[in-house]
Amino acid sequence: MNKIALITGASRGIGKAAAIAFAKAGYDVAVNYNNSAEAAEDLCLELKNYGVNAAAFQADISLRSQVDEIVSKIRKTMGNISVLVNNTGIAEQALFTDISEEMWDRMFAVNVKGAYNCTQAVLPDMIHSKYGRIINISSMWGISGASCEVHYSASKAAIIGFTKALAKEEGLSGITVNCIAPGVIDTDMNRHLSCEDMACLKENTPVGRIGTPEDVAEAILFLASENASFITGQVLSIDGGFIL
Ligand code: NAP
Repeated sequence: MNKIALITGASRGIGKAAAIAFAKAGYDVAVNYNNSAEAAEDLCLELKNYGVNAAAFQADISLRSQVDEIVSKIRKTMGNISVLVNNTGIAEQALFTDISEEMWDRMFAVNVKGAYNCTQAVLPDMIHSKYGRIINISSMWGISGASCEVHYSASKAAIIGFTKALAKEEGLSGITVNCIAPGVIDTDMNRHLSCEDMACLKENTPVGRIGTPEDVAEAILFLASENASFITGQVLSIDGGFIL
């Protein structure tokens, strides 16, 4: 029987690339999305070409009731989740003095509470089966901080603390919890940046290029693998050397 991976925010970008990498590696994939229903359904058709089971599940992960509902549906229709990729994230640029309470709360509701909601919903089954892999997607800005992205940076730093603390709590249950800190990756999240901004970011990346969603996906897949069973509580930077 294939292992089942739930990937949040898998309709586009890094989550989509991770879904494809997991399907190619023989995992059944539960594709979570919020608004992009068509993209999620198309992705599932693509994943099935690799001979695995795949299905799309709509939920705004900031809402616990919606998360509980899809986790229960996944359990009934696909089986128990053994890999959770907390990939969903939103970003926003604003001067700190312009960040409203509403902007702050939404950032933390999606980026931090979303991970809490999904993790708490899948953890009992993982504890019961004494096996689990949780991979959280932070950001290099969660390590170094980004100007005009204080709320984003703070939410991504919170994901690092979340990872380390949970890794300590769940180690004896056979569950590893790790975190990936991507650098600049070519996805919709960066579409608002000008060509000049992208060129500048590329110039500041030691390997001399912008990352691809596949660069991150391969690292996620590795952390989910048997080969990574002695790795937990770690933050793996996939940033071409941007933060050293
Ligand atoms: P993206 O292209 O903007 O895609 C975001 C994904 O998250 C979409 O599938 C979207 O689904 C989903 N999503 C947004 N809000 C959601 C919600 N409330 N509930 C459920 N799903 C929701 O983002 P990305 O660049 O792939 O980023 C993926 C992760 O990597 C994020 O955590 C991001 O912070 C992190 N990261 C990205 C970069 C980068 O340069 N791209 C760098 C560092 C870290 P719908 O379209 O269905 O709404």
